[in-house]
Amino acid sequence: MLINNETIIKDDDERIRQKSEDVAFPVSQEDRQLLMEMMEYVDKSTDEEIAEKENLRPAVGISAIQLGIPKKMTAIIIKDEEGQKLYEYALVNPKIVSQSVEKAYLESGEGCLSVETEHQGYVYRSARVKVKAYDLLKEDYIEIKAEDYLAIVLQHELDHFKGILFYDRIDKDQPFRKQENSHPIE
Ligand SMILES: [Zn+2]
Repeated sequence: MLINNETIIKDDDERIRQKSEDVAFPVSQEDRQLLMEMMEYVDKSTDEEIAEKENLRPAVGISAIQLGIPKKMTAIIIKDEEGQKLYEYALVNPKIVSQSVEKAYLESGEGCLSVETEHQGYVYRSARVKVKAYDLLKEDYIEIKAEDYLAIVLQHELDHFKGILFYDRIDKDQPFRKQENSHPIE
């Protein structure tokens, strides 16, 4: 499947609100291929030259529903400033098994490949989450203990499974309201 800014569905397409279903095991060849292509998208998207040439928007994650496929699969690659991979996950059926009461939020707000209009405001999420999933890169079940930025990315992607977009979580009346027991992430 060709994945670029043309083929990623946006929030004006009602499919983005669809709920995703569990992926059947063993993971089919078709599902594997899709998830690996999603990984490839995320990886290439942060390479400026390739991104421009192939019409990719930079991202740290993408979920299958953003391609109109309602299956619980998400690809995450987080790199440091030198482009070295800090985290890399090809997740099948990820599920949050515990989360902190303490919240964290991105100081500059969140973005999404499916959202082209600007939505300013803080998105409060748990500062720490524990996620269980099958990871296609490891070909095994894993448990991720995530905090801060990675925790936010995981929660953003898993929200896509429920048809929730980041701006649904912004307080409409006071988008920059400070919540107690929360900390900003740059
Ligand atoms: Zn998104």
